Amino acid sequence: MYQSLAVPGGRYVLSLDNHTEIVEALNAFCREKNILAGQIIGLGAVCEATFRFLDSNTMKYVDKCFQEQMEITNLTGNISQKDGAPYLHIHLTCSRRDYTCVGGHLLKARINGACELVVEDFGDAHIGRRLDEQTGLNMYQF
Ligand code: FE
Repeated sequence: MYQSLAVPGGRYVLSLDNHTEIVEALNAFCREKNILAGQIIGLGAVCEATFRFLDSNTMKYVDKCFQEQMEITNLTGNISQKDGAPYLHIHLTCSRRDYTCVGGHLLKARINGACELVVEDFGDAHIGRRLDEQTGLNMYQF
């Protein structure tokens, strides 16, 4: 699913295998290394990506899947913990064949080509999540 290399500064360089689903692989990696606080940055290429948009008027989620070859122009994510397990929050921006971009809150994306990431482990830092009743979101809890 992936290859990883530990580098100085509590960081890992990650190469995800072709055709891997990104969110699944990152969750598996964080569980394997027991990373409960940190950040993720990366790039690559995908053939399919599903984003989630929260309509702030209706407070309903709208999901949309793009099935086409796209470059990942940016993947940015954070790692916290919920119920003792890694909790990942990832946003993705992709560029299409016509160089326009689509992006948003990432639900899942399938690699077609490469995906190169850096995951930084914040070590013992406790970054939790709590459900905020007002927004309906899982907010940070320090
Ligand atoms: Fe989000």
